[in-house]
Amino acid sequence: MIEEHQIAAPSAAAPEDRPLKPALLRGAKLLCPNCGTGPMMSGFLSVHDQCEVCGEELSHHRADDGPAYVTILICGHILAPLMLVLFEIYRPDPLLLMVGFSIGFVAMALFMLPRIKGMFVALQWAKRMHGFGDS
Ligand SMILES: [Zn+2]
Repeated sequence: MIEEHQIAAPSAAAPEDRPLKPALLRGAKLLCPNCGTGPMMSGFLSVHDQCEVCGEELSHHRADDGPAYVTILICGHILAPLMLVLFEIYRPDPLLLMVGFSIGFVAMALFMLPRIKGMFVALQWAKRMHGFGDS
C-alpha cells in the first residue's frame, strides 16, 4: 500500500520523454521534430498532419494561443526598451518612432511566430503530450 507522502513509481510501460533540445531546434527550423528533414508546416501556421519524410503523426499538437503569447512577450521585451533608449538618445519625432517601431514589431512577430509554433509542437512531441505518446 502506498502512503500519502509517497509517490507511486511510474509504471514500466510508461514511455520516456524524447530528447528535448534537438526537437526544439528542429521545431525552430520548421522541420519535423522526429526526423529533422521533413517540413513541419504546410502553410504559414498550418502543421502537416503527418511528416512527409518519416511519417510521424503531427496532428496531435495543441499549440492554441501559446505561440502568439510568447511571440508578443519576446518582441515586446526586445523592442520596448529599445524604443525608450532611442527616444532618450535621439528624441525623434514621436510619429516617426511609432510608425517605425510598429513596422518593426509586425515584421519581427511575423518572422518569429511560425518558429515559435514549431517549437511548441516540438515540445509537445518531445514530452509526449496530447496523444504524441500513443504512437
Ligand atoms: Zn519526420
